[in-house]
Amino acid sequence: MIKKKLAASDTIEAKCTRCKAVFNHTIVAMVEDKVVRVKCNTCGGTHNYHSPKEVKEKVSRPAGQRAAAAPRKPKKDSAAALLEEWEALLQTKDRSKAIPYNQQGKFRVNDLTDHPIFGLGVVRTTTKPNKMEVLFGEGLKIMRCAL
Ligand SMILES: [Zn+2]
Repeated sequence: MIKKKLAASDTIEAKCTRCKAVFNHTIVAMVEDKVVRVKCNTCGGTHNYHSPKEVKEKVSRPAGQRAAAAPRKPKKDSAAALLEEWEALLQTKDRSKAIPYNQQGKFRVNDLTDHPIFGLGVVRTTTKPNKMEVLFGEGLKIMRCAL
């Protein structure tokens, strides 16, 4: 759908990141046939080129498009290991007996607790007074408790 070959210093319609609107821009840099950087004729700002169409698509991404395709936190092996441990622990627990988490609650190691935000967790260690380390699906958390 390229009508004519664009070149640097040509004028092109683009979405301005500063004006937040589609205005005429002057092409600053191109890579082969693609416009990469443009200068806004309205505010004078230079920014990466966003075609008016492309921006629209980004805002209303159709459902089902792989938004979370990237694996979660690939940097930490320990996070994956903890998640595995958590899953294994949960299989040994009776979820119906999970103790609702409460700062005044009394917990012991290996107790299953149900936290309103973090969900099901297993008490791993009871550390300092009134503190315990709970393994949730998203990792270890230090929680208050009454010991
Ligand atoms: Zn602008």
